[in-house]
Amino acid sequence: MQVRQPTQIVTAMATQEGAGVTVHRALGTPLLPDIDPFLMLDEFKNDDPKRYMAGFPDHPHRGMETVTYMLAGAMRHHDNQGNEGRLRPGDVQWMTAGRGIIHSEMPEQEKGLMWGFQLWVNLPAKDKMTKPRYQEIKATDIPEVSRADGLRAKIIAGSLDGTAGPISGIATDPTYFDVALPKAVTFEHPLPAPQQGFLYMFEGKANVGAGPTARLVPRGSLAVLGPGDTVRVSADAGADARFLLIAGSPLNEPVVKYGPFVMNTREQIYEAIEDFQSGRF
Ligand code: FE
Repeated sequence: MQVRQPTQIVTAMATQEGAGVTVHRALGTPLLPDIDPFLMLDEFKNDDPKRYMAGFPDHPHRGMETVTYMLAGAMRHHDNQGNEGRLRPGDVQWMTAGRGIIHSEMPEQEKGLMWGFQLWVNLPAKDKMTKPRYQEIKATDIPEVSRADGLRAKIIAGSLDGTAGPISGIATDPTYFDVALPKAVTFEHPLPAPQQGFLYMFEGKANVGAGPTARLVPRGSLAVLGPGDTVRVSADAGADARFLLIAGSPLNEPVVKYGPFVMNTREQIYEAIEDFQSGRF
């Protein structure tokens, strides 16, 4: 067994998205542009409506997937192909944009806490122009694994201790767990090559890795997992921890990004802009 040591720890930075929503971006920054096949991770957590009410009005996507996981609050999405849905606490939307959609993601509340995550996953070259697809999973359809030591994990994608998550048919074979780790408990999980991934701490703190090169990862920080075949996370003796474990198979293909268009060449980006501007999405 080779434990994956953290190779980089990054603090999420506050940035403005949509029509002026404050988000904390941990991945997709100059410091950490991507972890193939992942392009972005934002945490949004605001209890001040001024920081979320403007939402994310109509905007396009092509060549990638967006994954929204809500912890608190409600969000309505609507796209130009007639798809509509409402995300409530614990719900997940895995949207494969493929050749293109134009959608809005708007808060459905005027007060209270709005808390969740958005992850961007790249699509392989062969699937970039695929038909758009939605997987909308209600909180009650996301299985939870409990271990004897008190650990609890929600399995959105991938599998843990023989329990598989509901998300299926994704090219990069992703793992997406929400793990609640009680104080002084250690979580181990096999994550063999070629999978690559990271951990994002969103409550408490925990040590990632084993031995002298393990590092303490505080709330609001992302740890990039180095080579190895096993993830190990140990909660501090004094604090519970909760984190996302996200991993997938790298694509090893050229990435050319322009906002919400993620393609392989500049020509494909020009084509995306032209298609969008002339109403072909
Ligand atoms: Fe979007």
